[in-house]
Amino acid sequence: MPDIAYVNGRFGPLAEAVVSIEDRGFQFGDGVYEVIRTYRGQPFAIDEHLSRLARSAQALQLSPGHTKAEWNSLIQEGLRLSRLPETKIYLQITRGQAPRDHPFPPSLAPTIVMTFRELHPLEASVRKAGVQAITVDDIRWGRCDIKSVNLLANVLARQRAKEAGVFEAILHREGMVTEGSVSNVMVVRNGAIQTAPEGHRILSGVTRAFVLELAKKEGLPVAETFVSRDDLLSASEVFLTGTTVEVLPVVRVDGSAIGSGVPGPVSQLLSRRWETLVS
Ligand code: PMP
Repeated sequence: MPDIAYVNGRFGPLAEAVVSIEDRGFQFGDGVYEVIRTYRGQPFAIDEHLSRLARSAQALQLSPGHTKAEWNSLIQEGLRLSRLPETKIYLQITRGQAPRDHPFPPSLAPTIVMTFRELHPLEASVRKAGVQAITVDDIRWGRCDIKSVNLLANVLARQRAKEAGVFEAILHREGMVTEGSVSNVMVVRNGAIQTAPEGHRILSGVTRAFVLELAKKEGLPVAETFVSRDDLLSASEVFLTGTTVEVLPVVRVDGSAIGSGVPGPVSQLLSRRWETLVS
């Protein structure tokens, strides 16, 4: 089967999958999600992603949808049916279907959706050359740690990046860099890695946690602290982390070169270590 979807207990072709227009995900963005990718056919860091899904759901008083064991077997079933070389697995839980009203009815059955699509990795030449980014005001709500389907501010930021002809929008709030529209952001200053701390201002990336561990193993100093937009622009290296971007060097921000304008040694080292980790 090509790209497939799962909706409330049933697998089928993605093109035929539907949910009600009264679904609160559609009406209010009342839901949470995860994106997991496979490496050599196996989902990577599935436990970490499922834990974050459960945390996001709990923060919104949403049903967890399934137990971890159930999610795991549904994901394996989806992979078995789709048989893609590498898969981008999308999981979504919304509060369910109800007549439109802001407060939610008690014990509503959640809507559970999964999609299994072919993963198209970034081209090796792009990864090698690094990408460009722009900075954009972070206008998101106060709970960016929840992986909510309410992505409007991220959508608008990434659209700005696209219109500017660059890969990512790096968000900043009151002068402090938070994260990218679809990634976490790390900078290298005076040989040390700095990245925004966990908390309500960022999504705590699964990749971010692995990369910080890899950095520590290499003996690189790591500080989970906010950096200013000026510090970002004058950093010797900037790189993005995320499920789809992996470890991706940024060589220009707002048109100015980062360091010497090519991927630096720390980004390259961590990128190589990442490749080893996932292979
Ligand atoms: N921040 C945001 C806003 C994201 O959308 C993502 C991608 N899910 C990340 C960070 C990176 O998270 P992860 O490493 O878990 O994919």
